[in-house]
Amino acid sequence: MNIHEYQAKALLTKYGVAVPRGGVAYTVKEAEEAAQELGGPVWVVKSQIHAGGRGAGRFKGNEKGKGGVRVVTSVAEVRENANEMLSAVLVTKQTGPQGKEVKRLFIEEGCDIARELYLGMLVDRATSRITIMASTEGGMDIEEVAASSPGKIVTVTIDPATGFMPHHGRNVAFALELEGEQVRSAVKLLGGLYRAFTDLDASLVEINPLVVTGAGEVIALDAKMNFDDNALFRHTEIADLRDEDEEDPAELEAARHELNYIKLDGNIGCMVNGAGLAMATMDIIKLHGGEPANFLDVGGGATKERVTKAFKIILSDPHVEGILVNIFGGIMRCDVIAEGVVAAAREVSLQVPLVVRLEGTNVELGKKILSESGLPILSADDLGDAAETVVRAVKEAS
Ligand code: ADP
Ligand code: MG
Repeated sequence: MNIHEYQAKALLTKYGVAVPRGGVAYTVKEAEEAAQELGGPVWVVKSQIHAGGRGAGRFKGNEKGKGGVRVVTSVAEVRENANEMLSAVLVTKQTGPQGKEVKRLFIEEGCDIARELYLGMLVDRATSRITIMASTEGGMDIEEVAASSPGKIVTVTIDPATGFMPHHGRNVAFALELEGEQVRSAVKLLGGLYRAFTDLDASLVEINPLVVTGAGEVIALDAKMNFDDNALFRHTEIADLRDEDEEDPAELEAARHELNYIKLDGNIGCMVNGAGLAMATMDIIKLHGGEPANFLDVGGGATKERVTKAFKIILSDPHVEGILVNIFGGIMRCDVIAEGVVAAAREVSLQVPLVVRLEGTNVELGKKILSESGLPILSADDLGDAAETVVRAVKEAS
């Protein structure tokens, strides 16, 4: 799960991470009040959306205008800019061309920036350890730095047996070319970041930029935090920060029905039981020249109700031009699944080609139910055959 910058900063503050003062605003009036409370003389009006690259982003319909992060020098300007940004759609490198509507702003005190650095903390899958990534090339696109000058990114891996140690912090601080008192501040900040990361079951914390101010302080000017969904049950205070406006409506609906659904860019909807089988199904669709429209794991107990719900969610995506159902009847019996598929296809009055591959207990009976249903269901014998059939059916239909 993702949260907003202002929420991440509030959490990190509790762990002793230094951030500028600021206040959230949902309206122009709240923006003005937050600005007055901060007192100036410099304010920054920051769009709060779940995507980075806001500063360099542009608002729809005003592509020649200013970005999603604006430095201003009067309360009147805070008001003007808040008015312009709220309800406008911000397009950044990370939002995709459709952009995201700005519904919240963060009004922050302006910071006198001497240097912009990069700091990231994540779970490195290769070492199964928390790893710190740091670079002197902060503020900008870190993916760009990683691609063009990977030597400028330093990584420090933390052994879970010791946890974060001051030497980890010093190594990072030296890599960031900090000196004197800045090293101590950075070590403290990193220790706080690590405690926040582990206490809150984060999967990623990114501070880009971490800045050194004109006065020599080290502070987090931006903050992004992602959390492990599987651990949210023990962090209700984090789960409460969820902003459903930022999430895909179909994915939210799926989560409500305990379906694991992730929307993708292709046109072949997939309904599969088991995450591994779902991955394999997507792979084999691609192998046959198709593009999956989604990942969908209906789980072990694929009842009629869940199959129907899954159909509806797949079909809520207007790009879907065909569906492949690939179900292994191990715990479930194939005849029960077939009945579910037939009932669901009738209920949603399916308009796109549907290919069903069943395997497992009572498979013959299951196939018989499909073929006697009178519905234009294409039955397949194995996974390769199923993928080939759905890819062909979609091509023929278009
Ligand atoms: P994003 O990464 O989404 O573009 P940031 O929060 O990193 O958003 O802001 C972009 C840039 O705006 C920063 O690199 C920094 O130069 C500037 N900036 C952000 N917050 C402040 C602030 N409080 N004071 C001064 N400049 C800021
Ligand atoms: Mg940033």
